Amino acid sequence: MENLYFSPMLLGLNLMLASAVACTGLWYFSRPYQGPGFWMAGTWTLILGILFFMGFMASGSRTLNVLGNATQLAGEAILLLGVFRFLGRRLPYWTVPFSAGLMAAVNTWHWFSPLNSELLIAIYAGIAGILPLQACWALFIERSEAELRSARLFVAITLSGYALVTLLRGAIGVHDWLQHIEHADVTRSVSYLLPYNFGIPLWVIALVGLALLTMRRILSDSQRNARQAEASARRFERLMNVANAGMLVVEEGRIQDANPMLERLVALRRDALLGQPLSLLFSTGQAPLVHDLLNRADGRPHDVEALRGDGAGFPAELAVAALDDSCQRLVEIRDVSHRKALENKLLRLATTDPLTGALNRRAFEERAEQELQRARRQRTALCLALLDLDHFKRINDRHGHQTGDEVLRQFSHLCQQQARRTDLFARYGGEEFILVLPDTAAESATHLLERIRQTLECLELQSPDGPLRVSVSIGLAALTEDQDLLGLQAAADAALYQAKERGRNRVELVR
Ligand code: GH3
Ligand code: MG
Ligand code: MG
Repeated sequence: MENLYFSPMLLGLNLMLASAVACTGLWYFSRPYQGPGFWMAGTWTLILGILFFMGFMASGSRTLNVLGNATQLAGEAILLLGVFRFLGRRLPYWTVPFSAGLMAAVNTWHWFSPLNSELLIAIYAGIAGILPLQACWALFIERSEAELRSARLFVAITLSGYALVTLLRGAIGVHDWLQHIEHADVTRSVSYLLPYNFGIPLWVIALVGLALLTMRRILSDSQRNARQAEASARRFERLMNVANAGMLVVEEGRIQDANPMLERLVALRRDALLGQPLSLLFSTGQAPLVHDLLNRADGRPHDVEALRGDGAGFPAELAVAALDDSCQRLVEIRDVSHRKALENKLLRLATTDPLTGALNRRAFEERAEQELQRARRQRTALCLALLDLDHFKRINDRHGHQTGDEVLRQFSHLCQQQARRTDLFARYGGEEFILVLPDTAAESATHLLERIRQTLECLELQSPDGPLRVSVSIGLAALTEDQDLLGLQAAADAALYQAKERGRNRVELVR
């Protein structure tokens, strides 16, 4: 024990222990960076080797001697693998079994056929000195990550220094062997003390260099990430500013950010919007849809009714997308008033008759079919009437086509006034109109049609040639079971024919 205390071995062991603890800390705090794990494993393996060797010194066990030397070399080789891992190069795994195996073989031989102890030290030092050269070379030639260059050089130079000292130790060993110098007390030989006086300090400095190298990489990565984050934040801000749509960043249903276009769209200042619930920008009825879209965040546009600051509604298109993996959402709102107006206009043009504003025949047939199916499903009454102006040809002939058009317009207006919102009124062709009355029995339908007929009869229409009177003949049919739209129309047509036959200006119901 006393011998150990006064030998440089204890200092060497303690320095190695300190470097192993430091490497463990480096590994822990730099995760998931690659390399420090090998450095930690290497330094602890080295310590295990030293402990084996100290065991040999104390007990003289040959096995511990072989294990001690081989394990120390294995530890050094493992640590050096970490340099390759750090540089992202292919790992020369073979160096671990090769160095440890070679040393174990020579050392075992020594115990059966004793070699000169200086030669044994020289072989150990030769392997330990050659091992770092490969890693030094890799550090010297690496060209990527220019900002790490000086730290790489620092490690390469200190490791080279360690390799040189170790090889020198080997050379001295070879010299002593050739000169047949055998030290009685090996601890007093130059080659024994060289690693303690110079090798271990250089080794420790190299490990400090590895720590600096790792820190430099962490620093430059975080600087690069910060620059990228800053650039992407600037891009996002610019995107928000130039976007042609109202854009919002929403978190947990509340507005976190809004772009200038949105301020203009809803006529509210950004300050007034921040922190407010997104639902503030939509009419109350839209709340479930808005909530659903925020949850789905599928980026698809949906038509909604949005609100301006003064409470006025406007048709808008709302799209919600997830901004990232968190619960932040990017909400896009576009004013689609123009598109909606155009759509409505197109729909009106496609479904109505331009002269009278009544439904056109195609739109009528579609909707009448639905009404018929509903009436059949719900077993409710439904009536259909055909209305044909009497002697309309004469009006055209006497007063001109334009007056005829005006009569058609006024008659259509009268019918639409008298009918309910749920009734379907359409221009069926020329001066013939059709009316479908859902939920209406024949009796009430007759009343309504009679009222239309009488009102028209009494109506004095204005024409350039003076006042003008018109009458209408109406054929009415009530829906019977197993009757389709065509059958119902045919029945109403038959009733209309009867009305014309029986003197016109009358309502006939088919029985
Ligand atoms: P009836 O009492 O038997 O129904 O006789 P009518 O003259 O009303 O019937 P007819 O079928 O003989 O004539 C219909 C006329 O309606 C013929 C056509 O010139 C006119 N007409 C059709 N469409 C229009 C239109 O859009 N504008 C005008 N001004 N006249 C139209
Ligand atoms: Mg007619
Ligand atoms: Mg006709």
